[in-house]
Amino acid sequence: MAAPKVAVVGAGVIGLSTALCITETCPDCSVTVLSDQFSPNTTSDVAAGMLIPHTYPGTPIHVQKQWFKETFTYLSAISNSTEASEAGIHLVSGWQIFKNMPKEELPFWWDIVLGFRPMSAAELQKFPQHRFGQAFMTLKCDCPPYLLWLEKRLKSAGVQIYIRKVSDLWELHSEYNIVVNCAGIGAHQLVGDKKLFPIRGQVLKVHAPWVKNFIRDGDGLTYIYPGIHRVTLGGTREKENWSLSPDPGTTKDIFDRCCSLEPSLQAAQDIEVKVGLRPSRQCVRLQREVLSQGGVKLLVVHNYGHGAGGFSVHRGAAKEAAHLVGECIAALQGTSSRAKL
Ligand code: FAD
Repeated sequence: MAAPKVAVVGAGVIGLSTALCITETCPDCSVTVLSDQFSPNTTSDVAAGMLIPHTYPGTPIHVQKQWFKETFTYLSAISNSTEASEAGIHLVSGWQIFKNMPKEELPFWWDIVLGFRPMSAAELQKFPQHRFGQAFMTLKCDCPPYLLWLEKRLKSAGVQIYIRKVSDLWELHSEYNIVVNCAGIGAHQLVGDKKLFPIRGQVLKVHAPWVKNFIRDGDGLTYIYPGIHRVTLGGTREKENWSLSPDPGTTKDIFDRCCSLEPSLQAAQDIEVKVGLRPSRQCVRLQREVLSQGGVKLLVVHNYGHGAGGFSVHRGAAKEAAHLVGECIAALQGTSSRAKL
């Protein structure tokens, strides 16, 4: 058969990294990215991009750990290369702190991040409201530069990129053999997934170059994540809230919470407010599906629903999606050789 034509719907971190993995694992494919929005207008642009996994209750822990490990290894190599500053990837050290002892003293990812250890009493003195803490070094993506870097890699691999809103995956069946759905929260409408819901997050991006260490309250609500140029201050987690408008009361609340952990932030300047909708599900939807109408079939691979942790697992999930695309190609080749007999 001719080179299989694959369309990837979505240009957030999941769509772009999935398209890149497909070009790496299936070099004979013709790959196209279709998306109604690109950087800087995706949820992925709003994210802090810290590699600290979120737990998906419906996805086995060993699978989540594998995705995180592959992502960490991939980004470590970039951070250790001449590409690091263009790709916006860097190592950052800091603390995750708890007011009460966490249920699990060791998170499942403790041996993937670097130098994980309990904080000393002297370190905890900085946080008088907190009784326990974990110190470690992890990676951070500065999200818009990383998305642009991925786009650049795709273009040099010959991937076509088009602005296009897809109303129904079936509309692509006459142009493509395989469609990969990486629409994030857009999958709610695109494939009518009622198990997918938004968790609204509001963050502030500020100029505070003296802040070098990350601080994350273990409840996941308040965090300070220094990037290469800006520091991300968070945040909120508002289930089923679809509003993309920043709320001024929330901005003040986030700022006050972060200043109570890091008082020097009172001098932060150039405050920008961003809102994004985390595409949340009990489990990431990473699976094959066959759509068919009137005897005509369209092979689909879904890769969406990464909620609060898309950056932390994107490369591992993208590799798995590319593997599923490989299975679809094998199925297509089997069908075409049987048809010739
Ligand atoms: P998106 O970035 O939303 O991309 C979806 C793409 O699909 C877009 O390009 C969109 O235009 C396109 N699309 C949708 N529907 C259609 C359609 N019908 N036709 C064509 N195109 C379509 N994760 C971490 O790991 N670490 C963090 O520190 C972190 N911080 C976060 C902070 C906040 C405030 C938020 C909101 C999220 C954070 N996340 C973090 C989570 C992370 O942002 C998401 O998991 C990730 O961005 C999801 O990526 P995505 O590509 O699936 O979605």
